[in-house]
Amino acid sequence: MLRDAIRSLAEAKIAPYAAAVDEESRFPQEALDALVANDLHAVHVPEEYGGTGADALATVIVIEEVARVCASSSLIPAVNKLGSLPVILSGSEDLKKRYMTPLAKGDAMFSYALSEPDAGSDAAGMKTKAVRDGDHYVLDGVKRWITNAGVSEYYTVMAVTDPEKRSKGISAFVVEKSDEGVSFGAPEKKLGIKGSPTREVYLDNVRIPADRMIGAEGTGFATAMKTLDHTRITIAAQALGIAQGALDYAKGYVKERKQFGKPIADFQGIQFMLADMAMKIEAARALTYQAAAASERGDKNLTFQGAAAKCFASDVAMEVTVDAVQLLGGYGYTRDYPVERMMRDAKITQIYEGTNQVQRIVMARNLP
Ligand SMILES: Cc1cc2nc3c(=O)[nH]c(=O)nc-3n(C[C@H](O)[C@H](O)[C@H](O)COP(=O)(O)OP(=O)(O)OC[C@H]3O[C@@H](n4cnc5c(N)ncnc54)[C@H](O)[C@@H]3O)c2cc1C
Repeated sequence: MLRDAIRSLAEAKIAPYAAAVDEESRFPQEALDALVANDLHAVHVPEEYGGTGADALATVIVIEEVARVCASSSLIPAVNKLGSLPVILSGSEDLKKRYMTPLAKGDAMFSYALSEPDAGSDAAGMKTKAVRDGDHYVLDGVKRWITNAGVSEYYTVMAVTDPEKRSKGISAFVVEKSDEGVSFGAPEKKLGIKGSPTREVYLDNVRIPADRMIGAEGTGFATAMKTLDHTRITIAAQALGIAQGALDYAKGYVKERKQFGKPIADFQGIQFMLADMAMKIEAARALTYQAAAASERGDKNLTFQGAAAKCFASDVAMEVTVDAVQLLGGYGYTRDYPVERMMRDAKITQIYEGTNQVQRIVMARNLP
């Protein structure tokens, strides 16, 4: 029922704008409005803070169905979870009330600011600093590649509070867009997910009350990594949705397109490609849903499962979208058809929330 409801909403209110959002590299406002109107913009927020309290699997289904028609738009529910999960996992009751309520209402979005220009895969090598000054912390530094930066009101920012301790000297904070000293870089010019703004976040002597720290001092990196254990599954869901969207489009096309006097779907070479695409998608779906269940019950193998689902599903999304372009021939290579956009969008799922090389490092360290 949930899938049917989201699919009809996505097809009616999000899909019609997906090509224009990509072409114009503009924020999918229509998608945000439709998701907020239907309480689907941040479904993971617990009921006690005014949210719908969807479990990890339901959240995955929402993201998957939105990504099936528009990957950029699927970053609304996905990044709202990524940005706010540190507060849900480790924040004080006061922080949860203060920040989850506007998120649940749709009055504010949340971003996650871990990466920096010189600290990507090695996120613990970050340089952004937070220095205690009485009842406040003063933050200074540059965060890079921040999804939905500028659009989001709230940011979970990881910063160094004790440079001697490396990852154990990193703390997490909630920073607001309106805090003095916060500004944003120009939107990155990207290959795909062009509707999702990716910008630098500049923190120039940003003075925030000490109670905006998420958890205890020095626990920010652990919270950031624990968050990714849960949210990599949402990237797997995004990849799965993109792949399903490409397969669904190609499936229809091969029945219509005629060559050698018959629909190309009649050729066994085409049928084998479709069979392989569908098989890989089903395997990715099984792994993603299993990881979502592990996220929900706090399974001891969650770290492995989240990394495996993200890595596998994103590789499947890349393979399937490349094949979908192939199935449409020359037409697939043009922007008159959606599969080339899906192919460009799929690529990011192999890179963010840890590249697929990093996922393999994570899996190797956490073999079940
Ligand atoms: C569109 C977009 C949106 C993003 N959104 C966010 C966001 O909202 N918040 C946020 O904090 N970050 C975000 N990121 C950052 C993203 O998570 C990083 O780009 C990613 O972690 C890789 O870091 P890097 O780009 O610095 O690459 P690097 O770390 O420089 O990696 C370069 C290459 O080296 C490989 N490599 C690095 N170390 C190893 C190793 N030990 N073994 C083998 N290979 C290795 C990598 O896999 C990669 O192929 C986003 C990035 C993009 C492009």
